[in-house]
Amino acid sequence: MRVAVVGAGVMGLSSALALVRRGHAVTLFDQFPPGHTMGSSHGNSRIVRRDYPDPFYTRIMLEGYPLWSEINELLGGDIFFESGLLYFGAESDPDLISLQAGLRENGIDHQIIGEDQSVFPALKLNAGEWGIFNPGAGWAHADRFRAKALSYVLENGATFVQEAVNNPAALRNKVDRVIVTAGAWAKEMFTLPVTVNCQTFAYLEVPNPDAHGPVFIESGPHGIYGFPPESSTSNLIKFGVHSPGPEIDPKDDWRPIDEEKAELLRDFARRRFEIANPNLVSIQACLYTNTANTDFIWGEPETGLFFASPCSGHGFKFGPWIGERLADFAEGKAHPRDWPRFNTVC
Ligand SMILES: Cc1cc2nc3c(=O)[nH]c(=O)nc-3n(C[C@H](O)[C@H](O)[C@H](O)COP(=O)(O)OP(=O)(O)OC[C@H]3O[C@@H](n4cnc5c(N)ncnc54)[C@H](O)[C@@H]3O)c2cc1C
Repeated sequence: MRVAVVGAGVMGLSSALALVRRGHAVTLFDQFPPGHTMGSSHGNSRIVRRDYPDPFYTRIMLEGYPLWSEINELLGGDIFFESGLLYFGAESDPDLISLQAGLRENGIDHQIIGEDQSVFPALKLNAGEWGIFNPGAGWAHADRFRAKALSYVLENGATFVQEAVNNPAALRNKVDRVIVTAGAWAKEMFTLPVTVNCQTFAYLEVPNPDAHGPVFIESGPHGIYGFPPESSTSNLIKFGVHSPGPEIDPKDDWRPIDEEKAELLRDFARRRFEIANPNLVSIQACLYTNTANTDFIWGEPETGLFFASPCSGHGFKFGPWIGERLADFAEGKAHPRDWPRFNTVC
């Protein structure tokens, strides 16, 4: 089958990977050159975990999580790192409570920690706070995934075309199926009920080697998250703010750094790492495409044309699973309707 995939972020590349591995002829389009930093999939790290406060997503990641090890091996390694994950917050935090219930229900190995913890000694928990450490979680190297997945599909018969596809339905004249994974740009293409927000993240110099712990997420209104250093010789941890930043139009080149969010990061460094004058290195921005309830959306707006907009700031880890589902849709083995919570008629 000939399949056009529009958009070469994590979702388009994962779809191309699944389709190529199933023997299909793929043409992958992107408006920008490989490695660009205008969308949602660039940068070095993304959290990958099975456990979610919402059990619906945990069930998906029970299938999706093992795909990361498979892809890591297929693409020659250095993409997926199982560093463990520490999710922490207030005693009565509802997300932590439902997360723990989901871990227990699914028999996922985890450890409950309190203020006096040794999992991540440099990270300070306050009296009354607690955390859940899950060793079976970690992070994926986003840029390395993009580069290696593109090389793999090209080496296995796919074609990359750098072109903005303004009318994806017109591609149906040339190919059997069209898959659109256009990230923030899908909002206008299909008139989707999403907002596009620009999210701030930065690197922090952490001299104390004890600070090189697992991936972490602070439960609360801003959901500050972070990663261990990306190499054993680095003292920089990446951390970011999950709460929505300024709304923007992805067509503008403008990717604003939100100074309020940068200040939240400095505040986190003072509160949690006790760094009096935190030095944020390389402050950057990336796009979230948020639905009102942070669910993903996908659909078949025209026969043989499928789209998926799985972002809301938590889509990366689902990339390989979504790629397999989009390949299933193209082959007629499944349909977006099979997941009513995601299916969107537009
Ligand atoms: C700062 C930040 C941190 C994040 N952290 C995490 C995390 O820790 N864990 C996690 O699971 N998720 C995380 N996410 C979310 C995750 O990165 C996104 O869900 C995911 O990258 C979305 O990928 P995508 O392929 O849908 O979109 P994109 O990566 O934006 O790809 C869309 C592509 O389509 C192309 N395109 C658009 N329109 C056209 C057109 N008309 N013609 C041709 N090409 C077109 C674009 O150029 C772009 O390359 C984070 C996101 C951000 C911004």
